[in-house]
Amino acid sequence: GGADIQPLQINENINFDEIGGLSEYINDLKEMVFFPLLYPEFFASYSITPPRGVLLCGPPGTGKTLIARALACAASKAGQKVSFYMRKGADVLSKWVGEAERQLKLLFEEAQRNQPSIIFFDEIDGLAPVRSSKQEQIHNSIVSTLLALMDGLDSRGQVVLIGATNRVDAIDGALRRPGRFDREFNFSLPGCEARAEILDIHTRKWKDPPTRELKEELAATCVGYCGADLKALCTEAAIRAFREKYPQVYTSDDKFAIDVGLVKVEKSHFVEAMS
Ligand code: ATP
Repeated sequence: GGADIQPLQINENINFDEIGGLSEYINDLKEMVFFPLLYPEFFASYSITPPRGVLLCGPPGTGKTLIARALACAASKAGQKVSFYMRKGADVLSKWVGEAERQLKLLFEEAQRNQPSIIFFDEIDGLAPVRSSKQEQIHNSIVSTLLALMDGLDSRGQVVLIGATNRVDAIDGALRRPGRFDREFNFSLPGCEARAEILDIHTRKWKDPPTRELKEELAATCVGYCGADLKALCTEAAIRAFREKYPQVYTSDDKFAIDVGLVKVEKSHFVEAMS
């Protein structure tokens, strides 16, 4: 049935200022995803063909999903409700021959009916892998279906596809040709400055957030951390500070009676959380 084709309700409100270290991509993506969805007449009157699909490539936890959701939120805030469909590549594959193709067709039909729409394919390498000899026929058929569906979208850009992958070399080359996923953004692990920005994002709503010096110091230490790691670090540090201030919560049975107030998260908590 079509029950699982419903667009995802984006209840959380993700602002672009909650995404650290990717500001140059945000503007390009707005231009390629958000403007065509909102102002199709503009593109039509200048005969500009907006991209049909963009590919976000990079290691896990670097903000690919985050940025896709922020684009959908931004469009909705601008007054246009954008339907957001999210699929994981491997989930579209199914054990029944032909079922994956059928699901894809339904998805595209639904997205067109509810346009403007964004279809976000996470881990698209799972859906359209380089055709391996063993499963060649199955993948051939799924990739062909996806290509046909993309080619069949009208060029006014009211349905935009965003694909995400951490293995760009594992994607069928046909998907990366002009008119398909023809713009690529390489998300790398955040550099020192970006890490400080991400630490700021995940601590700035704290009652007593860390100082800029501390964030910079931590950022310099966290070489190799992705955005998701930095978020986890902030959570872990806060939990450690809480545990230290309220050990009773962990030892007493009447923990709910203890008056729990604010904690100050210190450098030592971050450092402990790192090890
Ligand atoms: P995956 O390939 O695993 O899906 P992804 O690149 O899509 O990874 P996200 O799901 O966007 O990663 O990131 C997970 C979480 O990590 C986000 O919800 C966010 O809280 C945090 N995060 C990741 N990157 C950033 C960033 N650049 N700025 C702020 N937070 C980030």
